[in-house]
Amino acid sequence: MKKIIVAIDGPSGSGKSTVAKLLAKKLGYTYIDTGAMYRAIALQAKRENININSGAALSNLCDRVQIGFVPDNDGLRTILNGVDVSEEIRTPDMSMAASDISSKKEVRQSLLSLQRRMGETGGVVLEGRDVGTVIFPNAEAKFFLDASLEERGKRRYKELAAKGLDVTLEQTIEDVKKRDINDSSRDIAPLKMAADSILIDSTNVGIKEVVEKMIRVVNEKVDR
Ligand code: C5P
Repeated sequence: MKKIIVAIDGPSGSGKSTVAKLLAKKLGYTYIDTGAMYRAIALQAKRENININSGAALSNLCDRVQIGFVPDNDGLRTILNGVDVSEEIRTPDMSMAASDISSKKEVRQSLLSLQRRMGETGGVVLEGRDVGTVIFPNAEAKFFLDASLEERGKRRYKELAAKGLDVTLEQTIEDVKKRDINDSSRDIAPLKMAADSILIDSTNVGIKEVVEKMIRVVNEKVDR
C-alpha cells in the first residue's frame, strides 16, 4: 500500500504530540517529533554555554551534534550524542530556549536537512511548526491543529504538574502565549497554516475524534 507523508503543525499545547503518536501507531507509520530536535540543540547549547547570537558558534554546534530517535511504548525517546535526554528537554526553560534557538538560520538549515532525510521515504507522521509549509510542502496530508490559549495552557500545565514540576497555571499560560508570539513572528519558517492544510480545532474535541478524522483523510489520499 502507498505510504504517504503526514504533516501535523500547530502551536504549543494544541495536542499535536498525542495525536501524532496515536495516528502513527494506527497507521503503522514512523512518528517524528521535529520540536524535540530543536529542544535537543537548545539543551546542548545551554550545556556548552554557547552564545546563540553567534552564527559561527551555532553552525559549529550543529555540525557536532548527533540527534536521533528510538521508538518506545510512549512514542519516542530523544537521543542526543548517544544519551537519552527525553526528560531533560521537556522543562519550561528548555521549551523557551528551543523557541529562541529555533529562530536562528544556522539551526533551521541544519535540522531541515535532517528532517527531510528522516521523512523522505514516506510512511511518516511529522509534527512541528513548519512541516507542511517548509519541510515537506508536498506532503500528501496536512493538518493544522489548534485550540484556545486557555485550553492549551491548561493542557501544558497538567503535563508539567504530573511530572512533579513546580509550575502555576498562570505562568504556564503566559509561557505558551510568549512562545506563540516568538514562533509566529520569526523571519524564517514561522508558525503558520499551509494554504492546503486541514484546520482542526481541538478545544472541545476529544483525541479519538481528531485521530479518526485524520485517518479518514489519510485513507482517502492513499486510495487515490
Ligand atoms: O513542539 P515543541 O513544543 O516541542 O517545540 C519546541 C519549539 O521548537 C517550538 O516552540 C518552536 O520554537 C520550535 N519548533 C520549530 N519548528 C518545528 C518544531 C518546533 O521552530 N518544526
